[in-house]
Amino acid sequence: MELPARAGQNAHDMEIAMNVDTQSHLAILRGMLDFELNEARTELRALQINGASVPPEGRPREVADRKDEAEAAQAFEVSDAAVERLMREVSQCERALDRLAQERYGDCADCGEPIPWPRLMAQPAAERCADCQRAFEGRSHCLAQA
Ligand SMILES: [Zn+2]
Repeated sequence: MELPARAGQNAHDMEIAMNVDTQSHLAILRGMLDFELNEARTELRALQINGASVPPEGRPREVADRKDEAEAAQAFEVSDAAVERLMREVSQCERALDRLAQERYGDCADCGEPIPWPRLMAQPAAERCADCQRAFEGRSHCLAQA
């Protein structure tokens, strides 16, 4: 069987051009990640100061009314979900910055292929290419249902 024809002669030049491009892309993405990380941390702190992260059981029992209690529990669930989302965001940004520092950034965690720039620009903390992310979400969805 014959191997496919080699890539064009200028593949090497293109690679150099891409490396320059890569550096500027990475600088932009690092800035975006820093910004997102700060935003998420600030929001998280604001929520935690409001006592959102304290479970209802841990609060002083001053709500005698059952209806009040239900409302308090519901409010807790809402802000708890927000705290969880923010904490996930913080750790995703931290992991992405970690990968940047170790020059492992931009490769899909599952298939190892480079994640396309447009996807990274839209979601700097993305750990997977679109296909693997879909597969991953399908898996965790199934797990959540089990
Ligand atoms: Zn992938």
